[in-house]
Amino acid sequence: MTHWKDILQDSITTATELAQHFSVDSTPLEHVLATYPMRINSYYLKLIHSVDDPLWKQAVPDPAELCDTVCMEDPLGEENLSPVPNLVHKYPDRVLFLIHSECAMYCRFCTRKRKVGTARMQINEKSIGLGLQYIQEHPAIREVLLSGGDPLLLSDQRLDDILCRLRAIPSVEVIRIGTRVPCSLPMRVTKDLAKILKKHHPLYINTHFNHPRELTAEAEKACTRLADAGIPLGCQSVLLKGVNDTHKTLGKLFTGLLRLRVKPYYLFQTDLTRGTDHFRTHTSTGIAIMRKLIGNISGMAVPTFALDAPGGNGKIPLTPDYITRSGTDLEFLNYLNKACTYPENGDPI
Ligand SMILES: *Cc1c(COP(=O)(O)O)cnc(C)c1O
Ligand code: SF4
Repeated sequence: MTHWKDILQDSITTATELAQHFSVDSTPLEHVLATYPMRINSYYLKLIHSVDDPLWKQAVPDPAELCDTVCMEDPLGEENLSPVPNLVHKYPDRVLFLIHSECAMYCRFCTRKRKVGTARMQINEKSIGLGLQYIQEHPAIREVLLSGGDPLLLSDQRLDDILCRLRAIPSVEVIRIGTRVPCSLPMRVTKDLAKILKKHHPLYINTHFNHPRELTAEAEKACTRLADAGIPLGCQSVLLKGVNDTHKTLGKLFTGLLRLRVKPYYLFQTDLTRGTDHFRTHTSTGIAIMRKLIGNISGMAVPTFALDAPGGNGKIPLTPDYITRSGTDLEFLNYLNKACTYPENGDPI
């Protein structure tokens, strides 16, 4: 089998290379690439069937990325919430620690588009050291979310080293890794990697699939390997216009993930990130999709639909409203839209 590093090496990164595979006008893409990088590795490239299909839209730059005048560079206010570079401390008991600047593919809708995959994201031994020191000095932090970029693109040795140093801090109870590798480069999940991760339990992984066509045999193998290493797997998907914004597509994705032992965790409303406005749906679209999914597919397969409030104000669940009247009796609609009652005082109706 081809080594994951060779697959990554074999990536499309220029407009000219893209034009060798698909009939596209490369000039407008070159302008986008001057600002935002592209990387489509040979594994993900094979999943794209045609120009403008849901996988294409996630991976291939769109001139619309440069026409976005409404959105912000750093909508979640991450830089303001960083006591040391690349560590975001927003919630009392957990931090987001960015430990790698690269990804196996650069998602066009990335919330950290301002820096991921560019020279603006400076991560080195010094920044890692400062992050670890901050965590050590703040024992209220009981959970550390490793993200980036993609932490699983680090070498086995480097990742093991960071995990060992984190585990040496007694106040750190849970480690959570955010990675798109099981979707975008599943061959990276080697037996050796699983062996390393397994040493650092309790360790959770939240991965990121957005479309049922990403649930390939290779992705299944990667997820199985991680689950067999005792790692609980979750998925954080993003609701994207033209990619997955129907209940049929998302229902298929979420039930498919569950079959791979991945629990859908969040479905995110697109952040107000500059260069991603063309992906954004109205929040009512997501709420209507959730209304159709809840009760109709396994509860285990239903994620929380949420938005990350601008300015670092935290994640806000957006839930369909079932209640039609409250008071002595609670009146509500069920998943089939049938009117039902719950007597608050316990008297049967
Ligand atoms: C999303 C996020 C978390 C994790 O939130 P959960 O609801 O626990 O998944 C932690 N820190 C930051 C800065 C975040 O953006
Ligand atoms: S894998 Fe995650 S961090 Fe990397 S480009 Fe995609 S969304 Fe951004």
